[in-house]
Amino acid sequence: MIRQVQKIRIYPTNAQQLQLAKAMGCCRFWWNYALNKIIESYKETGKSLSRSGLNALLPNLKKEFPWLKTDVYSQSLQQTSLNLSRAFINFFQKRARFPRFKSKHRKQSVAFPQSVKVEGDYVKIPKIGLVKAVFERRYVGKIKTVTVSKDSCNHYFASIIYELEACFINGKGDKILGIDLGIKDFAIVNDGSKTSKYKNPKHFDKHYKNLARKQKKLARKKLDSNSRNKAKKLLAKVHARISNSRQDYLHKLSRNLTNDSQVIVVENLNVKGMVRNHKLAKAISDCGWGMFVNFLSYKLKREDKHLIEIDRWFASSKICSNCLYQMDKMPLDIREWTCPSCQTKHDRDENAAKNIRAEGIRIVQSEGTPDSARGGSVRPGLGIMTLSFGYCR
Ligand SMILES: [Zn+2]
Repeated sequence: MIRQVQKIRIYPTNAQQLQLAKAMGCCRFWWNYALNKIIESYKETGKSLSRSGLNALLPNLKKEFPWLKTDVYSQSLQQTSLNLSRAFINFFQKRARFPRFKSKHRKQSVAFPQSVKVEGDYVKIPKIGLVKAVFERRYVGKIKTVTVSKDSCNHYFASIIYELEACFINGKGDKILGIDLGIKDFAIVNDGSKTSKYKNPKHFDKHYKNLARKQKKLARKKLDSNSRNKAKKLLAKVHARISNSRQDYLHKLSRNLTNDSQVIVVENLNVKGMVRNHKLAKAISDCGWGMFVNFLSYKLKREDKHLIEIDRWFASSKICSNCLYQMDKMPLDIREWTCPSCQTKHDRDENAAKNIRAEGIRIVQSEGTPDSARGGSVRPGLGIMTLSFGYCR
């Protein structure tokens, strides 16, 4: 997993500045207290105090100084212990000088391990709330640690450490979507945290009944009769209506998904087309999968975003998205199953969408270029190159 640090300017409100000042004060206090304890311990025993040794001092200290409980997120103090023990390791390995006491006149900081979220143009910080932020680029991945700092000009910054899935310039839509195309549901979309199902529109059924009726009528007409020509025209109208409403639906759906994302991963349609089941083949062509993938492709391309098509040999529905166990068989009529290895209960389509997304990410991370992408392919003309981590450096 690649780690990436992003430093952004943040704009806390006056109330938030006060809360941050308190939290930074607590961390500074704890750093200095702990550093002093380590120095004392050295003088007395010749030994340092470990990180857990430091953390063990905290409960009593919080009783003595109750503001260590109220004014700061407890994880922030533990992160300070970690930073201090790392500072000592660096000192002993001759990579850094002896850790120094922190002054309130210098740069201040407080760290938040794991509980921070990025929500739109805000960073959500425990005990502080939503803080306005300016992002120049967006990263997709798990947020590990966020350190909020204040410099001598009273400017606030957040350094966010991500376990990276990908990164993008200009964050309009920042998701990687895996899409499984289906028949009961038209598209099953996984964005890494949730799965959405998009139904085949119901009004198609209505059109199809109409179509069948008009086809029957036409069949009963005499050849070269006037009424036959009339019936032909009526039938053509129904066809046009179906095709318009299908296109309309596919345009809207592909537009919404494109707005939401930077990369969309789908299975190569040849896979689906290879199914030698006549009924299924008709359903597939009716759904307009090919049209949909085309719409996605050019909409994404116009915005410098990317479509990745996964290779036909990738068994998206047979693999457990949780533990990667591969089933021998997965007949089409099985909609739900339990992984024999990790006991995870799967919805067939959701599991496939998750696998497709993961495979797309794997391709982006490991291969970077369409030509070398062994496990998948990229539509001609779509430069997956730009997705390589060159952006991030
Ligand atoms: Zn499993």
